[in-house]
Formats: sequence, structure tokens, C-alpha cells
Amino acid sequence: MQSPQRYIAHLDLDSFFVSVKVLNNPQLKGKPIIVGGSKDRGVVSTCSYEARKFGVHSAMPMKKAMELCPDAILVHGTRGEYSRFSRWVTDIIAAKAPLFEKASIDEFYVDLTGMDKFFDPYQWTIDLRAEIIDKTQLPISFGLATNKMVAKIATDMAKPNGYLFVRPGMEQAFLASLPVNKFSGVGDVTHKVLNEMGIKTIGDILGIPLTILEKKLGKWGVDLYNKARGIHNGQVNNYHEAKSISTESTFEENTSDMNFLLKELVRMTERVGFELRREEKLTGCVAVKIRYANFETTTKQATINFTFSDDELIVAAMQLFHQLYKSEKPVRLLGVRLSEISSHSLQGSLFDSPEKKVNLYKAIDDVKNKYGRGALKRARS
Ligand SMILES: [Mg+2]
Repeated sequence: MQSPQRYIAHLDLDSFFVSVKVLNNPQLKGKPIIVGGSKDRGVVSTCSYEARKFGVHSAMPMKKAMELCPDAILVHGTRGEYSRFSRWVTDIIAAKAPLFEKASIDEFYVDLTGMDKFFDPYQWTIDLRAEIIDKTQLPISFGLATNKMVAKIATDMAKPNGYLFVRPGMEQAFLASLPVNKFSGVGDVTHKVLNEMGIKTIGDILGIPLTILEKKLGKWGVDLYNKARGIHNGQVNNYHEAKSISTESTFEENTSDMNFLLKELVRMTERVGFELRREEKLTGCVAVKIRYANFETTTKQATINFTFSDDELIVAAMQLFHQLYKSEKPVRLLGVRLSEISSHSLQGSLFDSPEKKVNLYKAIDDVKNKYGRGALKRARS
């Protein structure tokens, strides 16, 4: 029996953070907007298409972005705001899709393999997109293709606010004229090697024998050989809720002030703890990340008993910090991440008195919700 035709849709909200901001404040519509960190040391997390016209793009240092586009409006968002919209879109997709993956806060893959027996996958995805836009008012684009890689590139080509179907058999032709850096993972080094080989477009790769690509680029060369032919076997990983909750902050000035660093660590741990409880979840793993002034970055994680208690999270984070930190070295960035997220109901028996703890934290978080996070600081922070 022939295996069913693969169809994978990739949906990606257009400049998601900006779109959420504009929804909340319609006056921002059509203006160059940059979402990112501080003007001096932060980086751009995303920007509106109006700002992109000035050459601004995500991951660019804020300083450079403001030089390119001095009139840009700088906005910061709250995590809660974005995750609420993200969850809304996720719910709409979950209600319809047979199998889907949430690749990031604003990006989804839907596996429609074999579904063409029952409906037209293209029309189905068009309808899904229309429903998302209709309900949330957020612009979203999609690419539909026979695998994840081609679908994602198709989305990229369809943006902003469009869609594109690369029909089965058309993968190679679709890719051929595109520049090689459309493949995710082609960084500066690979780009340079490819350039030296005279390769500019994906189509150029087709003329190079596999052995040469492998010799020049190793395993990555083999990968490129296949990708250029539109071959990619990545699976759509069925969505499970929040895999991790994290926060990090880059300091205005590098610092080795232990008091300050520990205070920050506690503050950040409380923040992810708050998020965890708001999602009504438990965590089984805490990680701390330190980036030094010279950009050397270290991370360490520890498995803990499932908990949502700030006390236990703070103890774990402190221990990790002390194990990681090279004293006196100035720190640029600190991060805390919770992973192995699971639901209360599954883990209830792990608490000595789960109800008591739930009620205590609910009371604390109610105050935080009502008056903002600054209102209630525990003695330690
Ligand atoms: Mg996006």
C-alpha cells in the first residue's frame, strides 16, 4: 500500500508582539514600533513592518535599531499579555487540528497527512487562518507543503498576512531561486563557505555532488544536499502544554555585586513561580543561567520534587547559582527557567498538605494580580 500524501501547514503570527500591542492601542497602527529591551544594552525582540523598512530586525542591538529608525516607538510588553493571546490562538487550532505542534509562542505546525481523503488540506488551512483572524484580530500567515521545512519557508515568503501552498512535487522548483540563508541554520560561517563555492541560491546547491558538500561542510553538507531537493523528514510533535517557563534580564551595567545578584535571582524566581501558579502547574526542574561580561555563558539545572512553592524554587535556584558563579566576575545577564512542567492533578499526592499550599499561594497571587507584582515582596527580596 502506498503511504499517504504528507501535508504540513506552518502557521506563524505576523510580528506577534507588535500586533498584540497594536490591538491594545490602535493608535500605534501603521507606525514603526520596536519591541525590545533597554535602549543601551537590549536587543530587538521583534518590530513592525514599518520599522523593518528601515533595516531593523529581531536580535539587532537596540542601539543600532534606534540609529536606523530614530522615530521608532519603543514598547515593552508583559509576558501575561502575550501568553493570553498565544493561548487563544492555540485553543482555536487545538479545536480543529488532528495533530499539531506549538513550535513557539506564535508558531504552529499542523499535520494534515492523509487528510486529503476527507477534505482539501489547502481550503482547510485557509479556513483555519480566517477563523483565527476573525476571532483574535491578529494577522497570521501560513505555508502549506509536504514537509515542515518547505512549509516554514513558504510562510516566510507569504508574509505579511498571506499564505502559500507548495504543491506536492513542486518543492525543488519552489526553493531553487531562493537565497541559501532561507534555510534555518545557515550562519555566517556556512554562508562564507558556500559563497566561496559559488553557491548563492538554493538551486546552486543542486549542481554540487554530495561528496563535495560533505567534504566541505561535513554532516551539514549532507543536510543541505537533501534540503535543496525539498527533502525533510521532521515530525510534527504533538502539543503538550508549556514545556518551560523562563525569565532573564540583562543588567544596565555589568556587576559582581553578590547582594544585588542574589536579590535579582530571588525576584526572577518569584516571577517564574508566579507564572507557574497562574498556569496552575508544577515544575520538576529548575535551571539558572549566567552570562558574564565577556559573553561566556553557563547554565546549570537541577531536578527537584514537583513543586510550585517559591521557597523550594528559591532554594534550588540559589544552590545552582552558587555552584555556577565564578566569584568577582562581572555578570551581564541572569536567567531562571522552570521545566518539566506538569499539572496539579497528576502530582497532588506529592504534597504533605497540598490544599494548604494552594490556598496560601492563591492568596499571595491574588494580591499580586490586584496590585501588580511590586505590591507584595517577600521578606527575602
Ligand atoms: Mg511570528
